[in-house]
Amino acid sequence: SPVAIVCVGMAGSGKTTFMQRLVSHLYTHPDPTATEPSVSKTPPAPPYILNLDPAVHHVPFTPNIDIRDSVNYKEVMKQFNLGPNGGILTSLNLFSTKIDQVLGLLEKRTQPQPPAPAPEPSTVEFMTNQGKSAPPPQKPQQVKHILVDTPGQIEVFVWSASGEILLSSLASTFPTVIAYVIDTPRTTSTSTFMSNMLYACSILYKTKLPMILVFNKTDAQDAEFAKEWMTDFEAFQAALKNEEEGGSFGGEGSAVGGGSGYMGSLLNSMSLVLEEFYKHLSVVGVSAMTGDGMAEFFAGVAEKKAEFERDYKPELDRRR
Ligand code: GDP
Ligand code: MG
Repeated sequence: SPVAIVCVGMAGSGKTTFMQRLVSHLYTHPDPTATEPSVSKTPPAPPYILNLDPAVHHVPFTPNIDIRDSVNYKEVMKQFNLGPNGGILTSLNLFSTKIDQVLGLLEKRTQPQPPAPAPEPSTVEFMTNQGKSAPPPQKPQQVKHILVDTPGQIEVFVWSASGEILLSSLASTFPTVIAYVIDTPRTTSTSTFMSNMLYACSILYKTKLPMILVFNKTDAQDAEFAKEWMTDFEAFQAALKNEEEGGSFGGEGSAVGGGSGYMGSLLNSMSLVLEEFYKHLSVVGVSAMTGDGMAEFFAGVAEKKAEFERDYKPELDRRR
C-alpha cells in the first residue's frame, strides 16, 4: 500500500527543495531505500505530488494537485481584505472543502492500475534540478508515495482547522508520516536546537502521527552534532556548559542561549523531557541540494509506515 509523506518545517528550512529531491530520487530509484540507482527490471514508481502552499511563487516540480489551481491566494487576500497569513489560511480553508475530491483522485491512482489504461492527462511530468526532463509518461503506474508540501509558515498548517482536516483525512485513508524538516546550519546553538526540538515535539503531540526528523542542508553543516545531542545527554550538557563559558561551538545566539541561571536550568530540565521524545523518532541528516541521505530517509519512511500500521491506525480507528 502507498505511504503519504507530509513535509512540514519552518519557513526556509528547505521543504520545497527537499520535495524536489524526493521526486527525483523516486524517479531514479525503483527501490528508494537502496543507495545506488538499481538496474532492476521493475520501473521506478512515480510519486503523486500535492502542493498545499498557496503563496509559493515557483515550484521546482510539477504537482499532480496544486492548491494554486483551485484558489488564487492574491485574490483571496484582496476579496477578504486579509494580510499574507490570513490569505494563506483562508486559501487552505477553501481548499479543505474539496478534500473528498482530492482523496478520490488519490485513491484512484493508488489502486493497481489496469493493464491497458486510457492515457491520463495528469500523468506526472517534471523537471529535475539538472534541467533534464523526466522519461516520457508511459501508462500510469500504481503510486507508492504521496508527497505533500505545506505552506512556508508552519503554524498555518499545523495549528489550523483546515490543516487538521486535510491531515486527518489523509491519515484515515493512507499510512501517513510527518517529515519535520530542520535548517541544520541554523540549529547549532543549544538554545535554538532545544526550541526546534520542542516545536517538533508539539507537532508530534498535535498531529499524533509518526515523525521523521530531517536535518537538512548537511552540505553546509554536518548533522552529527544533533544526532549526538539526541542520543547522549552528557554531550548536550557539555555543549551547554561550553556555551555558558563563552565557548566557540555554534557561534549563534550564545548570549541568549547561555546555560547560566534560569535559562540554563530550564534547558537542563527540558532536555530530560525530550529524551523520552527522541526515543520515538527516526532521525536522518540529508542535503536536499546534493541528495545526500535520501536512501536513509526512505528507510526511515518504511520504518514509520510500519509503526503507523501497528500503533497509530488502531488508535485512529478507535477515535472514529
Ligand atoms: P521552504 O520554505 O521550507 O520550502 O524552503 P525552500 O525549499 O524554499 O528553501 C529555502 C532556502 O534554502 C533556499 O534558498 C534553498 O536553496 C535553500 N536550501 C534548501 N535545501 C538546501 C540544502 O540541502 N543545502 C543548502 N545549502 N541549501 C538548501
Ligand atoms: Mg516551500
